[in-house]
Amino acid sequence: MARGKGQMKTSPLIGRRLLAPVVSCCVRGSVAYCSVTIGNIEGVTSPCKAHSGDNVSFSSTRRGFLAAALTGAALTLAPVSFAAAATGTSKTKTITGHLDPGAADFVYLPIEVPAGVNKISVSYTYSKTQVASGLLGNACDIGIFDEKGTDLAGKGFRGWSGGFRTEFSISAGETTPGYLPGPVGKGTWNVVLGPYQVAGQGLDYTVNVTLEYGPDGTPFKPQYPPQQIAGRGAAWYRGDAHLHTVYSDGKRTPEEVAAGARAARLDFMISTDHNTPASHGVWGPLAGNDLLILTGEEVTTRNGHYLALGLEPGDWIDWRYRARDKGFEKEAQRIHSSGGIVVPAHPYCPYVACRWKFGYDDADAVEVWTGPWTLDDESSVNTWDSMLAHSVRTGGRWLPAMGNSDAHSVPQVIGFPHNVVNAAALSRDALLDGIRNGRNWIAESADVSVDFQVTAGGKSATVGDRLNVAADAPVTVTAKIAGVPNGVVRFITDEGQTQQVTLPASGQGTSTWVTTPQLAAYVRVEVRHPKIDGTSGSGTEMGTVIPLGPMAALTNPIFLGAS
Ligand SMILES: [Zn+2]
Ligand SMILES: [Zn+2]
Repeated sequence: MARGKGQMKTSPLIGRRLLAPVVSCCVRGSVAYCSVTIGNIEGVTSPCKAHSGDNVSFSSTRRGFLAAALTGAALTLAPVSFAAAATGTSKTKTITGHLDPGAADFVYLPIEVPAGVNKISVSYTYSKTQVASGLLGNACDIGIFDEKGTDLAGKGFRGWSGGFRTEFSISAGETTPGYLPGPVGKGTWNVVLGPYQVAGQGLDYTVNVTLEYGPDGTPFKPQYPPQQIAGRGAAWYRGDAHLHTVYSDGKRTPEEVAAGARAARLDFMISTDHNTPASHGVWGPLAGNDLLILTGEEVTTRNGHYLALGLEPGDWIDWRYRARDKGFEKEAQRIHSSGGIVVPAHPYCPYVACRWKFGYDDADAVEVWTGPWTLDDESSVNTWDSMLAHSVRTGGRWLPAMGNSDAHSVPQVIGFPHNVVNAAALSRDALLDGIRNGRNWIAESADVSVDFQVTAGGKSATVGDRLNVAADAPVTVTAKIAGVPNGVVRFITDEGQTQQVTLPASGQGTSTWVTTPQLAAYVRVEVRHPKIDGTSGSGTEMGTVIPLGPMAALTNPIFLGAS
C-alpha cells in the first residue's frame, strides 16, 4: 500500500477504468479458453478451468495483456462461482494466474457469492522474484468490492490493505482493519489486485477465497468522534493532519496514535489511513475534551498522494485514477462539497508512483514538510515559494503550506512536525478554514513557538493575512522565537532571503526587519537548526550540499500592500 515518505517501501494504490472488459469462456478445438473483449479487441487467455472445478487458473497472454493495455483499462477475469451451502459449512476456491510487465493498474477477480453467506475471507501470495539492484521487483496490492459494484467512487468499496496484509475477512460484526464490516450480500463481489510493480519475469499470484455459510452476527456500530470540542475559543491550535494506523500500513493502533497525539501536546489530529475510511468508526471513544480527532483519508494514486481532510465520518474517496484521467477532479469536488479540503502530500517523495503529478488547481494547501526534514522537503518549499510569487503576479489565490508527520510506526514521531492553526474554535470547520486561508505555521514540536507579525501605521497583520498599507509605508517585521537553540531565523520575501540572524543557545530571541510593500510583496519566516557541523550555514550561498540545517519552524506568508 501506499508509502509514506520515509517509510518502508510498501505499495502505492492505484486505479483506472475505462471501457469495461467483457470476459467469456469459449472452447477452441478441445481446449476451453477465457476470452477478454474490450471494445472490438479480443484477447485470448490460456486454457480456462473457470467452470470445471474449485481451482481456477488465469494467465494473461501477451495478446490478452495488449487488449487491456491498449485502452488503459482495468482487467476483469472470468468469474468464480460458489454454490449455496448449509449453515455452519465453508467452501474455499483458489485462483491462480500470471501477470506480465505492463499489466493493468487493476485486475478484478469476480466472485459470485450465493445467498446465506455470513463471512468472506481472502488470502493471497505472489512471486517475489529477486531482481538486480535498480530494477523494480514484484509488488501487488489487494482489496475488495462487494455486490454493489466497482464503479469509480461507487457504493461497492469494502476495503483495501494495499501490500500490508496477506489476508483479510469481512462479516457483519467484525472485519480485518482496513475493511468495512457489514453483511456479505448475494451477488458479484470483486477481489482487486493492484500489481503496481511487475518484474521482467512477470508476477504469479494465488488468491484463496473462503465463504462461510450461516446467519449474520451482531452488526458493527461505528462510534464516530465529535467534530468540535470546547477548546479555548479563538486561539492557535496545534495538530498533526497526516497519521496512519493498523487500518492501513501503520503499526500503531488507533489507541496508540491518540496517546501519541496527547504526548506531543496536540489539540487535534486527523486520521488519514490510506484509501479507506475503515478506522473512522473507532475514533469516537479515543477523542476527549483534550483532543479533537477528525476523520480523513490519504488518497494514494499511481501519480502521487493527497490528503482528504475533514471528511464526513464514513466517507470514502476513490484513488483508482492517474493524472491522465479525470478521477481526481471529481473526487476533489466531492471532498469540497462535503466541507473537506484537498492537500497534496510529500509532493517530491522519490518512490515510484509517489510524486505529485496532478497540479495544484484543486488543492487547498500543500504539505511542504513531511516527517524528518529531508531533501524532498527543500524541493517542496522551493516550489511552494515560487507559487506564492506567481499568485502575486496574477492576483490569483495563493496556496498555503502545511506540515505533518506522516507517522506510521515507531520510531516515527507523531506531531513531528505539526500545524499551529489560528482558528475561531476547536472544530472541524474552524480548523479547515484556518488551513484553507493559510493562518497556520509549522512547528517541529510543541517546544517551538513563533510569534510572527508585521506592523505599519498602527495596523498589524499575522500569518496568512495581508497588511494593506501604502506601497512606500515602512513596515516592521517581527518574529519572536522560542525553543530552537542556536537556531537560524530567516526572513524570506518574493525576492528571496533578506535577513538571517542566529539565535543564542537559549533558543529564544526576537528578530526584526523593516521593509515596505514595494520591496516585499510578502514575507515569511523559516527557523532552521544549525547544520550538522554546528555552523549556521548561509541561505544566500551556492554549494553542493543543502546550505542550511533542518527546519525547526516554517510560517505561511504575510502579504504586504494592496491586493
Ligand atoms: Zn503518502
Ligand atoms: Zn501517509
